Amino acid sequence: MGHMVPFPNPGGARVGVKDVALDLLRQHDMAETVPVPIIELCNREGVEVRETLFTESGVSGLIIGRDGQFSIYVNRDEPKTRKRFTIAHELGHYILHLRGKRDNGGFRDSQSTIRTVFRRAGDSSIEEREANQFAAALLMPETLVREYGPVSDAVALGSIFGVSAEAMRIRLEDGLYVRR
Ligand SMILES: [Zn+2]
Repeated sequence: MGHMVPFPNPGGARVGVKDVALDLLRQHDMAETVPVPIIELCNREGVEVRETLFTESGVSGLIIGRDGQFSIYVNRDEPKTRKRFTIAHELGHYILHLRGKRDNGGFRDSQSTIRTVFRRAGDSSIEEREANQFAAALLMPETLVREYGPVSDAVALGSIFGVSAEAMRIRLEDGLYVRR
């Protein structure tokens, strides 16, 4: 239980998803930047990001690989904050689940898999929960949110970080100020 979802890593140590997100920001000197330049971050990791119109309705985004080269596609018709979260979620799949694989694996995500709420275990797979946790930690880095907060106005704080008010509200409630 708790918010540190462990995942295996080659070193044998169990590292939390949040730590992976923070390490990534630090590697790219983005740990102090708001809003996090998410597309630039993807590009620096070798992942291209394209806005597109999906023929199938309900798709928010996907990540697909070809010969080890991964691309993120995001639904151009969704709100900017939603697109940012989707891109961060897909980058989470890349960093946590896909990187280094040579096959054509990927993920396709809809509003049911991209969530800012991750409390209800079982409402999506472990990989989806990890990608959502990664996205939240990446776009709303704990130390930065603390610097700007505590602000009761999740709308104002959300706009600073380029996330929805809902995502920020949950971030504030979900273990940021309340330690579990
Ligand atoms: Zn996903």
